[in-house]
Amino acid sequence: MNHEPLNSDQRFGEEANETGSSFLPVSLFKAGLFSRCPRCGNGALYSGFLNIKPSCSSCGLDFSGIDSGDGPAVFIILIVGFIVTFAALFVETQFQPPYWVHVVLWGPLILALSLGLLRPLKAMMVALQYRHKAGEGTSMDDDV
Ligand SMILES: [Zn+2]
Repeated sequence: MNHEPLNSDQRFGEEANETGSSFLPVSLFKAGLFSRCPRCGNGALYSGFLNIKPSCSSCGLDFSGIDSGDGPAVFIILIVGFIVTFAALFVETQFQPPYWVHVVLWGPLILALSLGLLRPLKAMMVALQYRHKAGEGTSMDDDV
């Protein structure tokens, strides 16, 4: 495995998949689950719960261009909504518990799932943004 950068001054999204890059592609799931740098897969992505570091401590990739926007929140709403809605329907149809049981079950589950998925999903979206060289106001025509 070769994780040595050819040029550590490169900015986020500028050099992905171009000829001369010495980095092997990092798995989106590895980058997401372990919240690692999308280029080298070693350096930590976050400095706080969701604050992204200025650059990778391992390969020096500049993270200043990262902007996952509302993407992680949208996926979390869809995923957690699906899980909790069908779990609540299942419990209600099978056991008909009092309403307070639903409150006790689903309130904490919604919180736990949402907070638990936020970091890995954001890291995965950052890795996707890096892999596809996505940036604000860029398009295929800008390369001309
Ligand atoms: Zn890195």
